[in-house]
Amino acid sequence: MSKKIFAANWKMFLGPHGAKTFLADYLERYVPMGDREVWFFPSSIAVSAVIAQVQDRTDIRVGVQNVYWEPKGAYTGELSIAMAQEAGAVAALVGHSERRHVFGETVDETAKKVFALLDAGLTPMLCVGEKLEERESGQTLAVVTRQLEALEGLDSVALASVPIAYEPVWAIGTGRTATPEDAAEVHSAIRAWFVDRGVEKVAVRVLYGGSVKVDNVRELVAEPEVDGVLVGGASLDPEQWAAISRVLID
Ligand code: PEP
Repeated sequence: MSKKIFAANWKMFLGPHGAKTFLADYLERYVPMGDREVWFFPSSIAVSAVIAQVQDRTDIRVGVQNVYWEPKGAYTGELSIAMAQEAGAVAALVGHSERRHVFGETVDETAKKVFALLDAGLTPMLCVGEKLEERESGQTLAVVTRQLEALEGLDSVALASVPIAYEPVWAIGTGRTATPEDAAEVHSAIRAWFVDRGVEKVAVRVLYGGSVKVDNVRELVAEPEVDGVLVGGASLDPEQWAAISRVLID
């Protein structure tokens, strides 16, 4: 059975100093657990500080929140994949709903990021999810399927290396969480999309994200369709994040 993933998206919080203080506290509270990995997506300016603190922890991976697909050039404000890699990042979020809906990132752009990351040997974690009005009008699976088109053209080996984070937009930072049953329905459709393209069912990893907290994480990760969680707000407090990432999986 593959390990569950507990991933922290720190968004635009915690610089190098804040990250160092956070980790000193968190690492006292979280000892490695064989059935899971913990991933951190800090701000790019804090990536080196995080890596310095966790370099001897094989259960912890560090990624960036966004990259640009061009290798270098006059792209003020952007982060190249080579730079992220030089800092020690092994993964990147792609298509987070804040990138899609605040910064207007398109499916074509997420595809370019996914392909460039895979070419460089980094793991893209592709975030997908519908807005409230899309859910209410019954378009959830159509929206998610359209977002998965960013992976079209990858062979089954490459596909199996891309974890998906299903994050309904209406649940992100709102305190409203999908029920394990809601998540399971979409996760199983995502898994079927991969299986149709030749990926073994057990190799597909689908995380849930959206207002995951200490008091709801257990029921979510107990759901067999949920291979882990991507957590924003509650990952910013070392005590809460330790409690979430240590949760017992029934
Ligand atoms: C996120 O940023 O990916 C997220 C799920 O945020 P929150 O946990 O705060 O809803």
